[in-house]
Amino acid sequence: MEERPIVTLQPLEAEQLDGEGTAAAGSHLRVVQPAKAIDLAAAERAVADLLRALGTDLDEEGVRDTPRRVANAYAELLTPRPFQLTTFPNDEGYDDLVMARSIPFHSLCQHHMLPFIGVAHVGYLPGERILGLSKLARVVELFARGLQVQERLTVQITDWLDGNVRPRGVGVVLEAEHLCMALRGVRSLGTRTVTSAVRGVLRDDPRSRQEFLSLAR
Ligand code: ZN
Repeated sequence: MEERPIVTLQPLEAEQLDGEGTAAAGSHLRVVQPAKAIDLAAAERAVADLLRALGTDLDEEGVRDTPRRVANAYAELLTPRPFQLTTFPNDEGYDDLVMARSIPFHSLCQHHMLPFIGVAHVGYLPGERILGLSKLARVVELFARGLQVQERLTVQITDWLDGNVRPRGVGVVLEAEHLCMALRGVRSLGTRTVTSAVRGVLRDDPRSRQEFLSLAR
């Protein structure tokens, strides 16, 4: 198999925006997840009820404030930060795989509300536009901050990049450890679940897919 160059994404955006021409050519898209109605007061009451039902005495000093802290923690874990998606014309016609490996992420499993934590490998074959470097992690976060299953998270990241950046191909591999599996039930500490999704050329061309998957490993 012929070796192709790899571009590792790094946070070069500020530097890129310094160049006048580049900044003018860049297209900025503010990405905000539709706001979910989070009722912190109701969440706090519900956490207090849950703790009492689990036998906790909420009059004790150390846990008195726990319902409020838990409500705030979950609100934060379920809210992605808005970001600016910057794309640039692919003037030099770069047509090899761009790969960002080991982007750290965390999410909450929708079955147990316990975290799953791992890394995302995201690759794409540029079409007419290339991505502002550093944004792939924010795209991952956009979908990770919510009640999720890993399979759906993988597909959502892939489809979003496919639809918004319109690359010739895109692929996402997620590797994560689920605390609901590690700490309870089968207690498979250290087991990593791997999921992947590919679109476009990375789906249709076996060689490109193989290249992507081997780089994502
Ligand atoms: Zn779970």
